[in-house]
Amino acid sequence: MQQTRQPVDLAIEARWIIPVHPSQTILEGHVVIIDQRRIVDILKEPLARERYAPDHWIKRDQHALMPGLVNAHTHAPMSLMRGFADDLPLMEWLNSHIWPAERDHIDEAFIKAGSELAIAEMLRGGTTCFNDMYFFPEIVARTALRFGIRAVVGMIVLEMPTVFASDSSQYIEKGLRLHDELRHEERITTAFAPHAPYTVEDTALMRIQTLADELDVPIHMHVHESAHEIDMSIDRFGIRPLERLARLGLTTPRLIAVHMTQLLNNEIQFAADQGISVVHCPQSNLKLASGMCPVAALLDAGVNVAIGTDGAASNNDLDMIEETRCAALLAKGVAKSPTAMPAHRALESATLAGARALGLESDIGSIEIGKFADLIAINLDTPRTMPIYDAAAQIAYSASSDQVSDVWVAGQHRLENFELTDIDTAAVMAEACRWRDVLASRSAGK
Ligand SMILES: [Zn+2]
Repeated sequence: MQQTRQPVDLAIEARWIIPVHPSQTILEGHVVIIDQRRIVDILKEPLARERYAPDHWIKRDQHALMPGLVNAHTHAPMSLMRGFADDLPLMEWLNSHIWPAERDHIDEAFIKAGSELAIAEMLRGGTTCFNDMYFFPEIVARTALRFGIRAVVGMIVLEMPTVFASDSSQYIEKGLRLHDELRHEERITTAFAPHAPYTVEDTALMRIQTLADELDVPIHMHVHESAHEIDMSIDRFGIRPLERLARLGLTTPRLIAVHMTQLLNNEIQFAADQGISVVHCPQSNLKLASGMCPVAALLDAGVNVAIGTDGAASNNDLDMIEETRCAALLAKGVAKSPTAMPAHRALESATLAGARALGLESDIGSIEIGKFADLIAINLDTPRTMPIYDAAAQIAYSASSDQVSDVWVAGQHRLENFELTDIDTAAVMAEACRWRDVLASRSAGK
């Protein structure tokens, strides 16, 4: 008897499928079946043809299909400051260049143009979700909605007055309003984003923890980025920043601690015990010479380690494939062990660990039935990734983001055969060039 085939939206057949979970797995000759934005099956190609009648069947026969990359720490609008001030230490870079430029230039148009550039770059390089921290997060959210990427937008908090808000209370109020506006969006969620222990006071931090518990959202914060940050905290509070956050009740599984380059052994164990997620941003740390995150030791202790690019002003790109390679190589160098952060583990950090940090692991981060179809195809049929013994190792150690051929977010094709489907890339780049002229001329006029 002829069995009726189940109608579904989409089938993607790929030479290799790297589901990330279960770990260390590469499926060959398999198909991912997608319906209503989510993955409904993963099975061998002949079985897929027997059981399903998809509206579209896409075949990528020289490609690896993997979960979309999760960029766990960004400042998307800062893409307009890519190359604006290079080769400086963190505090001088912030105090003398980035913060004055932000005071002079930031407005809603700047945020829109910077977010558009960042999202175009990220989708083009295989990032399907980013965790952002910047002023006017409502504009970042709106741009992410329009361009079809998934995002966690930060309800940013500082004490410092800016064009966005006058004090920490006003930042928090604006964040709460944004959280409320976005509560029905499927692709955009929020996190509190207190900038760093040295820019937010105790009272505001405790209020943020209470509100985060109420709203059930993560807290995304730069923590232990540089040795100077530790010195400032000891001078002012007599304790290291992580200890201060612990006393204020912030060291919980909600905390997404970005950078963590300055860690004592007992702090590594403490991070594991408290269930804190760490976001490793190796290129930003290297460029600002902030220090190096002890990734291997954190992983050995059982800490969830995700990967982020940081903003394009300190990286200087939002290329998660490159960042993942840097993380895998640096982990080995820092641990003095070639077995630290192996290829499959590096890809897990770039996907599922990011999803876990953001509290989105039941929806994204791996190719599993029930999760959103946030997927990327990487064409490995090029000299730099030939021959192929292990597709995961080729991606971790050899591939370029230029080899990302296709990106789907919730089953929607956002990059198709190397072309962004809904973004006028030329217009986005023209607007970025216009802003370059604005920033360069105002800086030159000083
Ligand atoms: Zn940052």
